[in-house]
Amino acid sequence: MARKDTTIVLKFGGSSVADVKCIERISKIALKEAQEHNVIVVTSAMGKSTNQLIDLANQACPGCSGRELDMLLATGELVSISLTAMTIQRLGHAAVSLTGWQAGFVTESSHNRARIAEIKCDRINKHLDLGEIVIVAGFQGITEDGEVTTLGRGGSDTSAVALASAFNADRCDIYTDVDGVFTTDPRLVKEATKLSHISYEEMIELASLGAKVLHPRSVELAKKYNIDLRVRNSFNSENEGTRVISLKRMLDMELTKAVTGVALDTKQAKIAIINVADRPGIASKVFGELGKNKINVDMIIQSVPRDGINDIAFTVPREDMELARKTCEEILKDIEGSKVEADDDIAKVSIVGAGMLNRPGVASNLFETLSNAGINIQMISTSEIKISCLIDEVNAEKAVQVIHDAFELEKSSEPIIV
Ligand code: ASP
Ligand code: MG
Repeated sequence: MARKDTTIVLKFGGSSVADVKCIERISKIALKEAQEHNVIVVTSAMGKSTNQLIDLANQACPGCSGRELDMLLATGELVSISLTAMTIQRLGHAAVSLTGWQAGFVTESSHNRARIAEIKCDRINKHLDLGEIVIVAGFQGITEDGEVTTLGRGGSDTSAVALASAFNADRCDIYTDVDGVFTTDPRLVKEATKLSHISYEEMIELASLGAKVLHPRSVELAKKYNIDLRVRNSFNSENEGTRVISLKRMLDMELTKAVTGVALDTKQAKIAIINVADRPGIASKVFGELGKNKINVDMIIQSVPRDGINDIAFTVPREDMELARKTCEEILKDIEGSKVEADDDIAKVSIVGAGMLNRPGVASNLFETLSNAGINIQMISTSEIKISCLIDEVNAEKAVQVIHDAFELEKSSEPIIV
């Protein structure tokens, strides 16, 4: 068997390789594609096995990180690649599994969240020349010094997109267990509909806001290299899925809706510092200290000063709430604040849509919708194509539903693609 003219990358997430039956299912998808293309498969670890490995690590050494954790986590993907290669061989096609380092993934040296520096293509090319389906372990690589690294949770999407770029692939299909990207989580809103297309920009926002179908870094990379990225369902592979494409290609922008999707994040907490001094240097002190403790701050508001004092409030990942509270309490004297309040009964609901770029009134429609539902907004933040509101967690699901209704997201509008 000789090499074909076109190459595609197929990535299968944990749920798509959860057991041998699933692996047979995805092997057949790879076989079918191999009739027409050179196929590079990327797999995640089986099911929830990365979580199980982390549990084990925490039993051996609570809170462990760094080199040995990478050694352990990298084993997860080795199980799924070898089982996939065996299955494809049994089904009658030549196949070979490669670890991240065998496949040529060279990364920077930061353990547990390494970035890909380069992919050396010769080894994979050798196997493609022989007509083999190449199955690569996602989420892992090796440093120049020969140390095993992993790319951070969810990183195998990024492995796949990086391969698609390195091999100039025609397509990169990311297979999961849902039909594609939806207007919102179908478990929250039954009218949620699958999008046929979404722009990289919108997908980056949605992924960063907690939509789990794609890892944000992979979409950034796909945008940078203009990769034809698709989200598909390995349990329903006839479905075309959702295509993630450049905004420029979504020709009928004027006709598309203002809002493409609604995202909900219930994993944040709010910290408020009351009565701090209104003078230069306060915000930089607060956020500088938080940064030193590696706490990621998301939404920030500062009140209008009154009599030389201010309030500063911000959100952080929920697991960092106590550390953030402590950090602020430690500097409370320096910034002349009176107290620190922490609240984790909050949720962030966001609307995302490239269609809001040139369309006034979207924000007011959102606020009115929430107010009509009796939902109070605690904080607001915006970007060009996103508006987020912080609300009480008890109202979270209701908020998603009323917003989905108000912007008529159940009505699909299909953009014209050239
Ligand atoms: N197995 C890794 C994780 O669970 C990488 C991935 O699935 O993308 O995070
Ligand atoms: Mg994933």
